[in-house]
Amino acid sequence: METLYKSTRGKKEVKSSEAILNGICDDGGLYVPINFPNIDKSFDELSKLNYKSLAVYVLKKYLSDFDEKDIRDSVDKAYDEKFSEKLIAPINKKGEAYFLELYHGPTLAFKDMALSLLPYLLKTSCRKLKINKEIVILTATSGDTGKAALEAFSQVEGVKIIVFFPENGVSDIQKRQMITQEGDNTFVIGINGNFDHAQSGVKEIFNSKELNSSVNDKGYILTSANSINIGRLLPQIIYYIYSYAQLVKNKEIESGENINIVVPTGNFGNILAAYYAKNMGLPVNKLICASNENNVLTDFFNTGIYNKNRNFKVTISPSMDILISSNLERLIYEISNHDEEVVKDIMKKLIFFGKYELGSNFREKLKDFYAGYVEDRDCLKTIKDLYEDTGYLIDTHTAVAYKVYKDYKYKTKDLTKTVIASTASPFKFTRAVCNAIGIDSDESDDFKVLKDLSLYTNLQIPKALESIYIKNILHKKNCNKKEMKMVIKEILNL
Ligand SMILES: *Cc1c(COP(=O)(O)O)cnc(C)c1O
Repeated sequence: METLYKSTRGKKEVKSSEAILNGICDDGGLYVPINFPNIDKSFDELSKLNYKSLAVYVLKKYLSDFDEKDIRDSVDKAYDEKFSEKLIAPINKKGEAYFLELYHGPTLAFKDMALSLLPYLLKTSCRKLKINKEIVILTATSGDTGKAALEAFSQVEGVKIIVFFPENGVSDIQKRQMITQEGDNTFVIGINGNFDHAQSGVKEIFNSKELNSSVNDKGYILTSANSINIGRLLPQIIYYIYSYAQLVKNKEIESGENINIVVPTGNFGNILAAYYAKNMGLPVNKLICASNENNVLTDFFNTGIYNKNRNFKVTISPSMDILISSNLERLIYEISNHDEEVVKDIMKKLIFFGKYELGSNFREKLKDFYAGYVEDRDCLKTIKDLYEDTGYLIDTHTAVAYKVYKDYKYKTKDLTKTVIASTASPFKFTRAVCNAIGIDSDESDDFKVLKDLSLYTNLQIPKALESIYIKNILHKKNCNKKEMKMVIKEILNL
């Protein structure tokens, strides 16, 4: 059956290629699939597929206007030697859970899982729609999307990529990775502000009729590599199904047995992909939404009230320092039984008051989820304890997930087997990880911290990080939120 897409705020239906190419709907809403396709093979069968074949199986269901050959070619190019692990997303039983390692791609965070594929999806969409324009990718990043998108698009012909990141809201390594990015088609700009400023600035640009028309006049087409683009979310469904199939294959679970999935959450993209997988028939008991001290989502799931009016905190899990989780709009669309008016009303309230409350009839539908949060201190202790008990090193984001899971298990006594989305390499958040396991890093420069961590743990520094300290800094631009539009006009010569 064909999968079509529509806006969370409107009724017009489009094909997958249009949804991917547009990125965001012109009514300000986000594209959602009208129906969820079903997993129509047994998990025993699926467990025989490697990552790429499973990717083709899942994507075929969502990219109805793509040829199977296009999908297969794209998948082959996306999941090649850029990934340092043959399995692409290996699963590792440690401590009390199964860690699904999503960070073996070129930039060491799970964003590579989708962004390695997105350029090919965009190019194919252009071809399908017979559009012959240069693509401009506009992206706001809390640290990891930016580098993953730069890496994915830097070599792609007919594409320019512009990334805005919060100047003081990313880790040293994240920043260094971005500002040393090579490629004439890459533009990296620091924002004086936090991720929410960067993201809302980008959304305003997408919604600006004036800017869009001058962009079009110049022969460009503007789109997004953020998880507001459905082309970012679809590839993320694959690895949840893959993790389940691996557990069946390894005889850790019976086919059909429920699992829990824990996701360290910021923009609500990754956990939404798990929810989509559940809607396709993946046997999931609870989806556990783990936050750091920017715990708007914890409060939302526990009270039905979303309230972003609170202090923004800079934490040691910076990729989750977010107060406006864009993809929650897609969940609200689902739990409101696809009622665009409800979504519009709620999003209006969010803009005017920074706050909204769900009706009790909708709250009932949140019971697929459990939510909790962790303070930095407990996050560090979780890294230390797991490392000392098992020798397994996790990053700060993954540690937030693991700790929320342990709290959940203690509280509920739920013994369902549980998968933790392990979203970044510990080497990407070196300083915090060093502090956690007792390596003194205060006096050292960033590169020395990396080397110290490697020496102490006997783990190799990932190749992708070895070179960033000898590379030149190529991007030095910095601006205020108000100036973002102007910066884009400069870059595109509008
Ligand atoms: C982006 C990111 C997250 C949050 O993912 P969302 O899809 O925004 O919820 C968590 N951990 C890491 C390491 C990330 O890069």
